[in-house]
Amino acid sequence: MSTPNVETHAFKTEAQQLLDLMIHSLYSNKEIFLRELISNASDALDKLRFEALTDTTLVDDESPLKIRISADADKRTVTIEDNGIGMSREEALSNLGTIARSGTKEFAKRMADAKRGEGEESDPESLIGQFGVGFYSSFMVAHEVTVLTRRAGEDTATLWHSTGDGTFSISDASRDVTGTTITLKLRDADPDNGLPDFTQNFALKRVIKKYSDFVQYPIELREERVERERDEDGDIVEGGAETTLVEWNTVNSMKAIWARNQKDVTEAEYTEFYKHISHDWEPPFETITLKAEGAFEYKALLFVPTRAPFDLFYRDQKYGLQLYVNRVLIMEDCQDLIPDWMRFMKGVIDSPDLSLNVSREILQQDRHVKAIRKRIVKKTLDALAKVQKDDADRYATFWNTFGKVLKEGSTDRDFLDKLTPLLMFQTSNPDHEITSLDGYIERMKEGQEAIYFITGDSVATVSKSPHLEAFQAKDYEVLYLTDPIDEILVGHVTQYQDKDLKSVGKGDVELGSEEERKAAEEEREKKTAEVKDLFEALQGALDAHVKEVRLSSRLTSSAVCLVGEEQDMSPQLERMFKAANTTGMEAPSQKRILEINPSHAVLGKLQVMFSDNKEDPKIADYAKLLHGQALLAEGSPLPDPVAFGGLVADLMVQG
Ligand code: ADP
Ligand code: MG
Repeated sequence: MSTPNVETHAFKTEAQQLLDLMIHSLYSNKEIFLRELISNASDALDKLRFEALTDTTLVDDESPLKIRISADADKRTVTIEDNGIGMSREEALSNLGTIARSGTKEFAKRMADAKRGEGEESDPESLIGQFGVGFYSSFMVAHEVTVLTRRAGEDTATLWHSTGDGTFSISDASRDVTGTTITLKLRDADPDNGLPDFTQNFALKRVIKKYSDFVQYPIELREERVERERDEDGDIVEGGAETTLVEWNTVNSMKAIWARNQKDVTEAEYTEFYKHISHDWEPPFETITLKAEGAFEYKALLFVPTRAPFDLFYRDQKYGLQLYVNRVLIMEDCQDLIPDWMRFMKGVIDSPDLSLNVSREILQQDRHVKAIRKRIVKKTLDALAKVQKDDADRYATFWNTFGKVLKEGSTDRDFLDKLTPLLMFQTSNPDHEITSLDGYIERMKEGQEAIYFITGDSVATVSKSPHLEAFQAKDYEVLYLTDPIDEILVGHVTQYQDKDLKSVGKGDVELGSEEERKAAEEEREKKTAEVKDLFEALQGALDAHVKEVRLSSRLTSSAVCLVGEEQDMSPQLERMFKAANTTGMEAPSQKRILEINPSHAVLGKLQVMFSDNKEDPKIADYAKLLHGQALLAEGSPLPDPVAFGGLVADLMVQG
């Protein structure tokens, strides 16, 4: 043999920490190591099958894809072997010496948090169970691990070896065919502490059945059968020869879980499958099955996760469903089956009526795919609506996790009607943290005609807004829309159940009965005539900032506020547009309307000042002070904070 080219490497720090944890673990469910190794083998077979779609030389019919497991009681070894994609030397070096996958990374992070006393979960043992920590979990049961692997398309193989003591060695080796063999030298069995003797086939068989029954490749277990010599009649010959026959028996049913009858599949099986495809460690929030028969057949198994992926709002997030054609995985993240606002969904869809070498471009055009997508959205929204109806608290946890993406969906014309009832909002009603629009409508007051909302940066600001005063006086509920996307949302959701959605900061406010409104209107007209000249003077001082100064019908205690006209952009939306403006050109600012509270003392003071001396320069100063106040109350920046500060200081000195 040529020089084996041996190198010794240290594990990356976090990988070693994880290993130490595995080695010293008291976790009683050590059997999950087998699930992890089988899952890796199955992934490797998937990858090979996928590459073979374009390079048919990679597979041959003589050696069907499979996983083989064997034990040797004398040597105390268990071997897991696959004829999948294998690893090159570089791949083995980087995959089996660091923490590669996000789940394991998250695990390491949670462990570190726990050590510092942060985070909810502080028990490493329970964390292992939740995460399953991939390849490294082998060290829970083994004191020595060897990996012999050969990458498809390469001639040389690689041998990886470690006793988990800080280093691993890597050397050139040979292997007849491509694939990977992992050999574990087992520690002594300790059944009382959750370590059965895994050199016993029945122990292996039980664990394979439990976790990996749905794996799509045969998992064959090596079993020996002793054959005793028989005579012509078929009777055993006393003292005759014994021959040991080796058999490879398939242990798993391999039945694709989505192809099985829903009622025959247990929740635990669905959960295990979900974890397998999503690499999540928590059970799914909802499981949804779909089936279509006829001209275009398909089956789908979909999951709404409990937890949002860390990259839910990253621009180049990978998402999509797994697409199978007759149980052959042809696309890992097929995006055409779900709209992008449903990118949190996981699942598989299998159709015998698609072509094996279907491309992304073809899928995008395919009308069947469009129909499937429609149905997936509908079924998912139905399932969510059911949760919302049956268990408000559970729905609230979903909403807190994925509400933002559902709001994105409100721009989807096709599903607006189905989505709107699912939307939840914060509200001024102290009995409800969040409410649906249906909930709001149920609580609407006698004579209330619209659904009112206020937009702003935070509940803290909007809940104190002067815009709310007239509504508070009438005890009307107002929705607090504080998510930047809410601005876009209310541009699409303008009506619900025949009720308009109205901003409290726009247009005129006319609340109460017909007589009340009429009386208020007359009162206002009278007063408007009185202050006409004064308001012109104020307007003159604020010309650059406001288009009108008028008496307010929405204020009861504050002196002033700024409002827009019905079709105007809100100040938040305007700021968003400005921030997103990359043209370099200054976008024109919208002028708004300054409303003054007719019953506020400040108005009386101004009227006196104005009747004494129409040219009093203080009138302009007061105008600026009032405008500044109105801006601050809604959380908008002042056009000239220094000048405003100066005016306030002057006023204090005079005061
Ligand atoms: P994960 O499977 O989540 O990526 P693991 O710790 O289980 O994390 O495995 C780490 C990596 O090692 C895998 O991503 C894969 O690249 C590689 N690997 C593990 N087992 C095999 C195998 N049997 N065949 C090919 N590659 C493997
Ligand atoms: Mg794995």
